[in-house]
Amino acid sequence: MPGTSDNLLNQILTGESKLLNLLMNSLPELMFIKGKDLSFVQVNRSYVKLAGLVDAFHAVGKKDSDFFKASDGQDASAVETKVIESGVPAFDVDQKVSNKAGETFCLSGHRLPIKNQQGEVIGILGLVHNVTSVKRMEQELRNVNVRLSHTLTQLKQTQQKVILHERLNALGEMASGVAHDFNNALMPILGYADVLISKPELLSKTDETIVMLKDIRIAAMDAAQAVRRLREFYRTSAEDENFKGNLNKQIETAVILTRPKWQSEMGAKGIRINVETNLQEIPFVNAKESQLREILINLMLNAVDAMPNGGTITINTMKDDDMVVLEVCDSGVGMAEEVRQKCLEPFFTTKGDEGTGLGLSMVYGFVKRRNGSINIDSAPGKGTKVSLVLPSGENEHVEQKAEMPVMVIPAMRVLVIDDESYARKLFGMYLKADNHSVEFAENGLEGLEKFSSGNFDLVITDRAMPDMSGDQVALAIREKKPGVSIIMVTGFGDIMNENKQCPKGVDVVVCKPVTHSDLQRSISQAVGRRA
Ligand code: ADP
Ligand code: MG
Repeated sequence: MPGTSDNLLNQILTGESKLLNLLMNSLPELMFIKGKDLSFVQVNRSYVKLAGLVDAFHAVGKKDSDFFKASDGQDASAVETKVIESGVPAFDVDQKVSNKAGETFCLSGHRLPIKNQQGEVIGILGLVHNVTSVKRMEQELRNVNVRLSHTLTQLKQTQQKVILHERLNALGEMASGVAHDFNNALMPILGYADVLISKPELLSKTDETIVMLKDIRIAAMDAAQAVRRLREFYRTSAEDENFKGNLNKQIETAVILTRPKWQSEMGAKGIRINVETNLQEIPFVNAKESQLREILINLMLNAVDAMPNGGTITINTMKDDDMVVLEVCDSGVGMAEEVRQKCLEPFFTTKGDEGTGLGLSMVYGFVKRRNGSINIDSAPGKGTKVSLVLPSGENEHVEQKAEMPVMVIPAMRVLVIDDESYARKLFGMYLKADNHSVEFAENGLEGLEKFSSGNFDLVITDRAMPDMSGDQVALAIREKKPGVSIIMVTGFGDIMNENKQCPKGVDVVVCKPVTHSDLQRSISQAVGRRA
């Protein structure tokens, strides 16, 4: 019956319990009604609790500022005045306040204008959430996030250090190998030179002298090659995933690079280790060749360590769909199951102080970064097989650097600037043999003086010289005479050419040691550039 429910509603609204009071006090949110002067007409229980009042009556006629201090300038009274003046509600008003007890709260809520029957604003209704704990959690989350990213940065730095450390270790091993090869190469050079100096009469036997000189030349080329290998090894800093590497070729290099360890060092102890390779035709893999060498060297050194009584290392490559499979097998002591399961972990080693425990974890990181996989098959006494499956790069043709044909160069006037007298002498001999006329300078300043007072077609300058570097000399000469050809000679030529580094003004960079044909080729190239 409508009459009955109207009656009930009337009783509810006007009765002792008052519906509005009931509603207000049942809300977990703070709720209040303020007059036009922003003094309270009514507040609910949640407000009383937050403000630390005895009861709601204590609030009537008072203002927010009697109970709360706004912190950080987050005061809502300006917003409330605007709502009263404009009659437009304000939503999501943020406040930060502290009560008399010194507790601080973050509040967020709405202010709605209360209008009379004429539509005039007579007060304001506030409904406010206490969002203190949400804000605190947000802040904590933010702090945790900052700490996490900090930790992540530290982890990355540690990883870099680990990689560097492992590289240095392997480099140490290689350096001793290179020193060994280098000394071997020096032997015939020193020996023949001694013989020729102590027995000058041999020089009249041209045929014999030529044979000796040819051997000296081969030995010197080997020595240069040994140094170049070392350089190739440490040229690993910039990781670049866009490289295509020839795995089979790097296996051959790794076998040579580790030979001092598995052949010379073990051989000296009477231990025989054979290395066999079965390399099928495979596409390129997505890796820098220096990285491939590093992982191969690591796997090979592990295999050598596992064969204290000798044995065989077998390296296989094959193609499997668009993947390349590499297997490094040894007939060594093998691994117990718990070692096999842990061996990829960084710092896990069974070699005590001798081991770093980083070799396999580096290999693992390398494989994972390329979305490949690694599998280790091993059992005590049964040897070990480490298999890597690597995605192949497109089987693109790697452009072979075509050897520049040597042009017939007309006689030129050449200025050679080098602080080493043997280098000046050698270049002088090469150039005169090709009918060029040569002048020499021992340093950059002298070079510039001679260049200004003479008339030269070509300048050959060393790079590292005291007082004035080859780079500065080249630049100054280029400014004086743009048409002149400039060749730079340096011990770091390989690295510079690899990085496409050519100092300003220089036409061609050539690597020491320079053979006669190296020089001829560089001259053709340099002259070709300026033609
Ligand atoms: P390290 O060689 O410095 O110990 P690695 O990460 O290269 O570190 O290898 C971790 C461990 O895995 C080795 O200490 C060894 O116990 C085991 N291991 C690795 N390769 C072989 C292998 N070819 N044969 C037997 N055990 C191996
Ligand atoms: Mg190792």
